[in-house]
Amino acid sequence: MFLARLGSLNALVQTRPRRFWSRWLGAELPSADTLGRVATQIEVAGLRGVQQQVYTRLNRSQALPPPAHGLLAAVLDGHESHATFRRHCRGCLTRTIHTLTGDRSQYYHRHVSLQLVGADWMLLLDAEPQRPGEDEIAAALRLLARALPLYPRAFDVVLADGLYADPRVFNAVWAQGKDVLAVLKDNHPALLEDARSLFETTAPLGGRYGSRTCQYWDLAGFTTWPRVAAPIRVVRSLETWSVRRQLNGQREEQHTEWFWVTTLAPTRAPTGAIVQLGHARWTIENEGFNMLVNGWYADHVYRHEPTALLVFLLLAMLCLNVFLAFYRRDLKPAARQAASRLHVARRVAAELYAVWTVAAPRAPPGSPATPASPAAA
Ligand SMILES: [Zn+2]
Repeated sequence: MFLARLGSLNALVQTRPRRFWSRWLGAELPSADTLGRVATQIEVAGLRGVQQQVYTRLNRSQALPPPAHGLLAAVLDGHESHATFRRHCRGCLTRTIHTLTGDRSQYYHRHVSLQLVGADWMLLLDAEPQRPGEDEIAAALRLLARALPLYPRAFDVVLADGLYADPRVFNAVWAQGKDVLAVLKDNHPALLEDARSLFETTAPLGGRYGSRTCQYWDLAGFTTWPRVAAPIRVVRSLETWSVRRQLNGQREEQHTEWFWVTTLAPTRAPTGAIVQLGHARWTIENEGFNMLVNGWYADHVYRHEPTALLVFLLLAMLCLNVFLAFYRRDLKPAARQAASRLHVARRVAAELYAVWTVAAPRAPPGSPATPASPAAA
């Protein structure tokens, strides 16, 4: 269902009469109800084990090279799947929405995910649901506690947005011998203020990020964050680039300013590497979950039950990983140019819908075996 991007269990069971299923499963495809019910019973540790095997095989075949700066990153991020006023389950999170007709309780689910980011690839490692009554950080800590021993050499640094610039995250990752890098926003006013005033008296370094001209400030040894056990370094990047306005064809200068807080030592990651890593955090938005949601229907509620929601999310992640590994590493560049990812997904779907009812002609004796059908090929 995910590989063919069908989007629903009902679309999947409409392919039930196809011979693909009896050949592949050796049995009939179960009904949508059964598939949903089974998803509530699946042992998620087993699914995570399959994901770990995918990682191990890709890593052994050297399909996961690090970027030029040499540091492999794991991006931590929370994602809200769906929100509703009507149906809720025991795993639903609740918030109050102020409407014109009064306050209403809205139900939703959020998962925190961990995704590896390398030179020209990404791999979704794991996800953990946020439970009722806890915050997103609590779910992230559970995810890290599981993933750090499972993937001890998969990454050097955990990247995250401003929400994760939290002493609990910094201390948990640092205690396991890894580094953290998070966006620094005004949720840490003392640290931000401290960094700003120190940077005012420091000359910037020149640098580039893609087509952007940058000014960097980089200082280590901050003590304004006493609850963090690790040494703290703050990097500021002021980035300038120009765009041509469609309306009048004039070039217009654009600026953006970033602050990152990290445990990475300057000897391990020079300023340019920090900026590269800081921007890589957005890969999870642009590549990971965006792809899962927009192309792979990972947000669809296949069954509104906490285990089933996690199982379908982990299955979607697994399928996307396997699909991208095939697309990026097995297909030759010319084949990738000729066939988009969607095109390949539709070829997978075509196999589900295809009807091969014509018996294959017998090959004359002594001739090389010929495939019975394009599907068998
Ligand atoms: Zn629910």
